[in-house]
Amino acid sequence: MLARSSFRNSKRFFGTRMVPKQTQLFIGGEWVNSANGDTFETINPYTEEPITSVQRASVEDVDRAVDAARNAFDHGPWRRMSGTERGDLLFKLAELIKKNGEELAHLEALDNGKPITLAKIVDVSNSYLTYKYYAGFANKFVGDTISAPGDFHAYTRKEPVGVAAQIIPWNVPMLMQAWKLAPALAAGCTVVMKTAEQTPLSALRVGELIKEAGFPDGVVNILSGFGEDAGAHLVRHPGVDKVAFTGSTEVGLDIMRNSSTSGLKRVTLELGGKSPFIICEDANIEESIQQANFSLFFNSGQVCIAASRLFVHEKIYDEFAEKSAKLASKAVLGNGLDPNTTQGPQISKEQQNKIWGYIQKGKQEGASCLTGGEEYEGKGFFVKPTVFADVQDDMTIAKEEIFGPVMQILKFSDYEDVIKRANNTDYGLGAGVITNDIGRAFHLTNGLRAGTVFVNCYDIFDPTLPFGGYKNSGLGRENGLEGLENYLETKTVIMSRPEGSLP
Ligand code: NDP
Repeated sequence: MLARSSFRNSKRFFGTRMVPKQTQLFIGGEWVNSANGDTFETINPYTEEPITSVQRASVEDVDRAVDAARNAFDHGPWRRMSGTERGDLLFKLAELIKKNGEELAHLEALDNGKPITLAKIVDVSNSYLTYKYYAGFANKFVGDTISAPGDFHAYTRKEPVGVAAQIIPWNVPMLMQAWKLAPALAAGCTVVMKTAEQTPLSALRVGELIKEAGFPDGVVNILSGFGEDAGAHLVRHPGVDKVAFTGSTEVGLDIMRNSSTSGLKRVTLELGGKSPFIICEDANIEESIQQANFSLFFNSGQVCIAASRLFVHEKIYDEFAEKSAKLASKAVLGNGLDPNTTQGPQISKEQQNKIWGYIQKGKQEGASCLTGGEEYEGKGFFVKPTVFADVQDDMTIAKEEIFGPVMQILKFSDYEDVIKRANNTDYGLGAGVITNDIGRAFHLTNGLRAGTVFVNCYDIFDPTLPFGGYKNSGLGRENGLEGLENYLETKTVIMSRPEGSLP
């Protein structure tokens, strides 16, 4: 059931007048307006109309939020809580997310445009699992006792890094919030999070649930705002100990540079990709077509790990390309709030134009467009699902991240050569292989330079599975134990012990 308290005009369930209630900044446990009174509109990508106005964080608001997080870390009850107590709060938050799952999925579909079915089974349920997973970790990370030489007793303690600045993108806003908040809170850090200007709404609702769960004031601060001012200021802020970012490689590199202008902050980055998916000659062709379709068109192609370079063996290439185009053309484009929709609009006019530019480039550079490839006429930032065959490695569409529903199919014949071609990119986020030959699966998997390699599957995400990139696709890993370790420092304690006492 949709929670009434959160929407006005809730009768207009699929309509544009469903207005979310919470639009303020969450600082120090209070909902407040921005210091300079600025607001911005968040746009429904299906109607191209504003959903509502939200408060826009200024640099002064960033200062207020960092002060609140700093104070909560240095002086609040948070640091004095046991891991079990922190875990209890995270479990409570997970349950509140589950309880309000319908409403959160609606917010995500409204603000981002994605199909509500996806929002439920991917965004909301994975967010729930992520909070639950890290809740369990909160009282389980431990140091070591070390046998130091001499009359010393030594041990290590795992301590929270401190104040974490977290900047998230618009493609999977709620899940990115969970991937960042959950490990930080389990570790005992406090957080200032800046959401993407295109999708502030689900994070604000989660902020309400954080308050309802009973987290101490200032432990989580949520700012809607823009990267150019609020984001840039947050990253440079001397009160911040750690920066975690998901977004474009270009901004990730900026963040790497800017974060060190006021001291050495810990930085983790999850950036772009141009992931290869190798379909071998022995693959079941019908299953491979389904997998490849999902690997690229899922979330309207707005996925950092989208398999945007499909390397298909020459023996099955023609059939694969023809059937892939047929399947892609069956997508049902529409309102994310309509359960029948399988492909929602792109996030913004800017992204729609950018993707259209790549489609034109693909044609100009000689790739064969098997389906789509025409501009979408009508309302909504849609891009027709497009499939290019005869794609060559040096074409722009085979090299750059498109972040849209545009599939590139390349041909290969030699397995050593395809490993080299797949690795010939500055990115290294994901890769995939489809084969029934176990030896070939090992050979390809170990040869591919990517943070995640899927074999006979794609886009499997879970909080237990570390996720991150090689090369320009990122720094560090989210999820799993490694995701937690990003938010921990190791302190080595060496104590002198009485001479002659047992070591
Ligand atoms: P950005 O990398 O610009 O945005 C990601 C986040 O970073 C947003 O919250 C943004 O703020 C913020 N940001 C932007 N500039 C700065 C800065 N100087 N300092 C601190 N924070 C900043 O991605 P875009 O939205 O512009 O998308 C462009 C391209 O990025 C896409 O086409 C796609 O290729 C890639 N991308 C990759 C994602 C991934 O998951 N790896 C996710 C999203 C995009 P705000 O937007 O609010 O101004």
